[in-house]
Amino acid sequence: MSAPFIELHNVHKHYKQNRRSIFDDQPSVVKAMNGVSFSLYEGESFGLVGESGSGKSTTGQVILQLLKQTSGSIYYQGTDVTTFTKQQLKSWRKKVQIVFQDPYASLNPKKTIEWILHEPLEIHHIGDKASREEKILETIHDVGLDTSFLDRFPHELSGGQRQRVAIASALVLDPEFIVIDEGVSALDVSVQAQILNLLTKLQKKYNLTYLFISHDLNVVQYFCDRIAIMYLGEIVELGSTEDIGTNPKHPYAEALFSAIPHLDVDEERIPLAGELPDPSNPPTGCPFHTRCAKAMDSCKSVKPVVHTMRAGYQVTCHLYTQEPEHQTS
Ligand code: SF4
Repeated sequence: MSAPFIELHNVHKHYKQNRRSIFDDQPSVVKAMNGVSFSLYEGESFGLVGESGSGKSTTGQVILQLLKQTSGSIYYQGTDVTTFTKQQLKSWRKKVQIVFQDPYASLNPKKTIEWILHEPLEIHHIGDKASREEKILETIHDVGLDTSFLDRFPHELSGGQRQRVAIASALVLDPEFIVIDEGVSALDVSVQAQILNLLTKLQKKYNLTYLFISHDLNVVQYFCDRIAIMYLGEIVELGSTEDIGTNPKHPYAEALFSAIPHLDVDEERIPLAGELPDPSNPPTGCPFHTRCAKAMDSCKSVKPVVHTMRAGYQVTCHLYTQEPEHQTS
């Protein structure tokens, strides 16, 4: 395998909350990222999956340095971006972009599509008037819209068309890496498929690397080469989409995948008990033990470590590192 395009080394992102914990007088801390490490490779689509509150969106924003990590390192093509000066960050941000779930919120409603696509070029002082116009025309065409859209306002477009414009405004800077944060979640299924196919086409043309953040496993399985499953700020399983999709190992991943309906297979659904625990007061030991159907006594007190099942496939669960114990009731 080639050298990683992006590498996260033991990244933490903690938020202090003003309110005090009900259990002690200390300010409570939400560990949105709690020792996250993984690598992305050039040209791949890497899926980050988990429930709302698992830390996946925070991870995307910390990689882009839109949020500052509490500790840890993030290497972009071998350079630690967490040490960048403001000027270095501004220059680097041309290469890295983000597309959000709700393009209606991310596109300026008072500006035309042409203005929206022109703005990033102006901010980064790219090209002259003629070359900017040429780039805007090329980009609007690449996202499957014609030039008549340039004079319109976001509210005049459908949800799918708005997301195409949001993608165009990321593409206009010729980025290398795009975080797609729930980028198709708000769209109808048929429009989702169109946008995913568009992203695949653009990935080839622009040699893009994607971090694809979603709670929708169907979409992630369709689109991504590899997947990492997050739970309470930690990666619990990471591997190829094929490996995890066909035989997930971590009980949380098993439960998530068992909830996907299959027309041809009558699979038993593994229930996921309860809600995601309060991230400012996570369970001791394995953070998943309060919901895990396979929890053992040791899971309540001993935190599992990352276990490499084989090259490129890791699971964080005692089931794969310890002798079986009695199951807790
Ligand atoms: Fe379940 Fe224990 Fe594995 Fe955690 S470590 S996922 S509680 S079996």
